[in-house]
Amino acid sequence: MNGNHNSTTPPGDGARPGLLRPVSAGPVRLISEESVPGRRGVSLPASDVPEQPLEELLPAEELRDELHLPEVSELDVVRHFTRLSSLNFSVDTGFYPLGSCTMKYNPKLDENVAALPGFRQLHPLQPTETVQGALAVLYHLEQLLAAITGMAGVSSQPVAGAHGELTGILMARAYHAQAGRQRRKVLIPDSAHGTNPATAAMAGYRAVTVGHDRQTGELDLADFAAKLDDECAAIMMTVPNTLGLFERRIEDICRMAHDAGCLVYCDGANMNAMLGQVRPGDLGIDMIHLNLHKTFAVPHGGGGPGGGAICVAEPLLPFMPKPVVVQRDDERYDLEWDRPLSIGQIHGFYGNFNAALRSYTYILALGAEGLRAIGEHAVLNANYLKAKLQDHYKLYVDRTCMHEFVLDGRSLREHGARTLDLAKRLIDYAFHPPTVYFPLIVPEAIMIEPTETESKETLDAFAAAMIAIAREAAESPELLHEAPGIAPVRRLDEVRAARQPDLRWHMGADAPPA
Ligand SMILES: *Cc1c(COP(=O)(O)O)cnc(C)c1O
Repeated sequence: MNGNHNSTTPPGDGARPGLLRPVSAGPVRLISEESVPGRRGVSLPASDVPEQPLEELLPAEELRDELHLPEVSELDVVRHFTRLSSLNFSVDTGFYPLGSCTMKYNPKLDENVAALPGFRQLHPLQPTETVQGALAVLYHLEQLLAAITGMAGVSSQPVAGAHGELTGILMARAYHAQAGRQRRKVLIPDSAHGTNPATAAMAGYRAVTVGHDRQTGELDLADFAAKLDDECAAIMMTVPNTLGLFERRIEDICRMAHDAGCLVYCDGANMNAMLGQVRPGDLGIDMIHLNLHKTFAVPHGGGGPGGGAICVAEPLLPFMPKPVVVQRDDERYDLEWDRPLSIGQIHGFYGNFNAALRSYTYILALGAEGLRAIGEHAVLNANYLKAKLQDHYKLYVDRTCMHEFVLDGRSLREHGARTLDLAKRLIDYAFHPPTVYFPLIVPEAIMIEPTETESKETLDAFAAAMIAIAREAAESPELLHEAPGIAPVRRLDEVRAARQPDLRWHMGADAPPA
């Protein structure tokens, strides 16, 4: 990186004021590059205890003669890490339309409540009499989620969407076993999230794929009917599906499944699209998990901690994971362990309490009207962007979408560019790329989820960047191939980074061969 980015700097005001301008980030330096022999970040007082030879304290093979640590001042360390932190892209610095992941703004109120000392200093081993407030939060959150989904009971113990799925399918298994049924298959539409077949397999089932209708983007009912039999324990429907589309035949699907003694599991990770519009329980769905970190407010993106509350219909209540948070006759809250049919405990203590607390605060602050507005604006924003882009890119299914939509990036191919090139070029325009190459059923997929928290100005700026890139692909495709031009690092070998991550700091003799 030489600071001369004229050839690749996006024209016009692709990066709007207020959005992150990565050009300021500069090259990445290692802390070892700041090292100056003899420089110190701390000064320690002279020891006032008798020194003991190290050999008496540690086995000889654990001792090293020399330890190569960077020799830096406190200011060097502060500047280094502050600069590194500014290289991160985040919702608080820019637009993050990562489809399916719902990278919306999380209000700071929820962070403030989670940081209150009375909550922050709780210990999971405290007796229940001393954590009545925390139990009240869990109890009332579960009641609110039951009201929102129209289900009979909720457990906020699962700590991720996929964990909620596993909990639900284990409950389905226990339910069938209790009824003396041996079922071996779980039906999964090809428009479902990838965690669904993984869940079915982990719960000991065979995942059987059901196709989608190429015209509507919805479940292929004929294929479903053909595969539905008395071996099916459940069908796992992602609603809205990964094409961002509502399954308009969901009530028929539930009826057909129930007639075959098969449960309907709904992957409700993206319930944000439906908040206040429809209650899955009213549609006939038996189980649904909610990603607290997508639909409600919990910052995410680094792999946790999150929440995957599982909500179930009446017949599944006895199989809920334990302990169950209950309110006793004297109004005291308690953890109930005496649940003979429970699938057991699926996480230490009671899951991620802080995720539950943030979501509870978020729901109370918004109220019913506010929650309804989330569903409306998430859908409105996605359809607005879709309308702005559909003349410049190809839609996979041309229909009103829910909270997200999927473009078919094959139109870039005629210019020798790919979806990956588009994603990298968006970085030069100071936008986080959308989800790409997912869902797998769409070739060169570009999956865009703007979320409800973005303004019209931001959506317009993103659309302008996408349209500018479509023009660049035709006129100067090398800009796409070389992107990103103004990020601190260029294209990475993502496969090697994932397969052989090198997370250790090295210096001098420890350094790995280049
Ligand atoms: C994000 C997502 C999941 C997985 O959630 P995790 O919390 O990452 O385990 C499952 N299904 C859908 C539809 C999702 O969008």
